[in-house]
Amino acid sequence: MNRCQVWIKNTQNQQKKDNKAMWISILGCSGGIGPGNRTTSILIDDDILLDAGSGVGDLQLQQMSRIRHVFISHSHLDHIAFLPFLVDSIFSQIKQPIQVYGLPETIKALRDHIFNWVIWPDFSELPTKDNGVMSFNEVSAGDVITIDQRSITVVPVEHIVPGIGFIVTSENSKHFAFSGDTATNDSLWHALNQLDNLEALMIEAGYPNSMEKLGTLAKHYTPRSLAKDLKKLKHKPHLLISHIKPGLEIQISEDLHQELKDYQLTCIKSGDSLQFD
Ligand SMILES: [Zn+2]
Ligand SMILES: [Zn+2]
Repeated sequence: MNRCQVWIKNTQNQQKKDNKAMWISILGCSGGIGPGNRTTSILIDDDILLDAGSGVGDLQLQQMSRIRHVFISHSHLDHIAFLPFLVDSIFSQIKQPIQVYGLPETIKALRDHIFNWVIWPDFSELPTKDNGVMSFNEVSAGDVITIDQRSITVVPVEHIVPGIGFIVTSENSKHFAFSGDTATNDSLWHALNQLDNLEALMIEAGYPNSMEKLGTLAKHYTPRSLAKDLKKLKHKPHLLISHIKPGLEIQISEDLHQELKDYQLTCIKSGDSLQFD
């Protein structure tokens, strides 16, 4: 059965036991902050990060220094806030630059507004101009980046700033998809329908149905708009619901269970992990 195989809680010290198994650790997936809430950040095995929200701050220094690749879905603060601290923290720990991937617009935003020597130093030029601790890589829709037998496919989505999601494929050809932030669209579903199988889909539902107007303005899904778009999908993945606004958890959860009765769904939280055998 094509499902994520194991759920484990609080696996920060979990070691990868089987070389072919892929681990997904949810460091953060909340739509806000507060006790227990961390913003979007997902660790693949121990070396690939999808988004760099406040969940990164719970990693040990040693774990941070093992991260070699960071894929950024879009430029919003809840997805990038801890990238500056990450590169600063591991500055003296690593020999090769950490590779940061994003749309050209996202890379430009990071350069212009964060790593601009005012808010934070430009770590792509530190310690020296030709040997920075971080290196920016522009990606576009459809790109596939392969890293040690795992591949990351870039998928366009529909958000208030240019945004992408990612399909992560394990060595065993299992797929984990992450939507990033998005409202109703066709591109994500089209890309997912090209896959032979889809085990798990981490997708956002930032607002309850009662706040659909605001959700549409901010370009986020509500359970209702998500349910409508899921009709475009040929797979029945385990849905991992993320980006829920603090204070709206009960309302959104009730809406989800009403709208998505046919799906296996979990409102994930930081500390959750999945293993793909
Ligand atoms: Zn956003
Ligand atoms: Zn967000």
